[in-house]
Amino acid sequence: MTYPQRMARARARMQELDIDALCLSVGPDLPYLTGYEAMPLERLTMLVVPQDGDAVLVVPQLEAPRVLEQSGVFSMHPWAETEDPIQIVAGYVGGAPVVAIGDHTWARFVLALQAMLGSARFVPASRVTGPLRAIKDDAEIAALTRAAQAVDLIAADLRDRPFVGRTELDLHREIVDRMLDAGHERANFAIVASGPHAASPHHEPGHRPIEPGDVVLCDFGGTMAGYCSDITRMYAAGEPDPEIRAAYDALVEAQEAAVRAAVVGARCCDVDAVARDALGAAKLADRFVHRTGHGIGMEAHEDPYLVAGDATRLAAGHAFSIEPGVYVPGRFGLRLEDIVAATPHGPRRLNNAPRDLAIVH
Ligand code: ZN
Ligand code: ZN
Ligand code: ZN
Repeated sequence: MTYPQRMARARARMQELDIDALCLSVGPDLPYLTGYEAMPLERLTMLVVPQDGDAVLVVPQLEAPRVLEQSGVFSMHPWAETEDPIQIVAGYVGGAPVVAIGDHTWARFVLALQAMLGSARFVPASRVTGPLRAIKDDAEIAALTRAAQAVDLIAADLRDRPFVGRTELDLHREIVDRMLDAGHERANFAIVASGPHAASPHHEPGHRPIEPGDVVLCDFGGTMAGYCSDITRMYAAGEPDPEIRAAYDALVEAQEAAVRAAVVGARCCDVDAVARDALGAAKLADRFVHRTGHGIGMEAHEDPYLVAGDATRLAAGHAFSIEPGVYVPGRFGLRLEDIVAATPHGPRRLNNAPRDLAIVH
């Protein structure tokens, strides 16, 4: 989809929701609509999109050369060092009664705008952009697939790499380097959690050396050509404890069942319940302490969320993780994660690295 098409869809949604102006700064909404990503700076960059009227990008003069103007999408208003960008933005917003503001906008700018636009009501821009960005077109699914394939290769290669004696941080650095080498412009995270550390789902890699018998959780992802990757695989330094092996077998079944359930029309909460019930059958339901998955696209976590209580129905073009886990404090943690796209022909996994518990040395 082209930028003018995306902008037209955003305006249609603004009309539907009675939103008069959309103001976007840092974060992925701006590049989604214009191709330009704002610098996270004390100097304000903000796109103002009136529901009916031309969009204007208010941008610091020194950043202006980086902007690729999109004719028919927006025009540019560079501001000089001595000008007040808040005043300029407020001028374009005018007397709009309802203003949608980008969810990632720095509070200092939101507060200044609110002070200057006394009577306007502010709502989060994700109400406009969230549902648009959640449904990926073919080019976006292709970008997510390429990012997934890049981390698949890394996950598969790790099976032949040494683990024992290396620290979590050492492996973490290797994974980060490999993501960059594989074409990611950014490594967003690389969790390496060994032995009991893996019981903390988002463990920060540290100086603990990996020991024989440890089961190691590697969950990593980055951004490649604007779209995110995210994969989790498990590595065992030698044959693991039978209890861990049994829990992992149950986890593989739970993940498989949840992927199969992620068909167009299924409710997010039901997909979550499928994973939870499968682990429940193995008496592990209370060890699965987080939701089953999250949407993925320009952001690593975005709509839709596969969580209890969310009745959103999956639609063709939704892309999301399926990542059940089992966490036993003080002992071990397990997670298995693939990115899946909902298609008219059924769920399609974008990650295909081997899913068995890899035995490493
Ligand atoms: Zn996570
Ligand atoms: Zn992950
Ligand atoms: Zn994830």
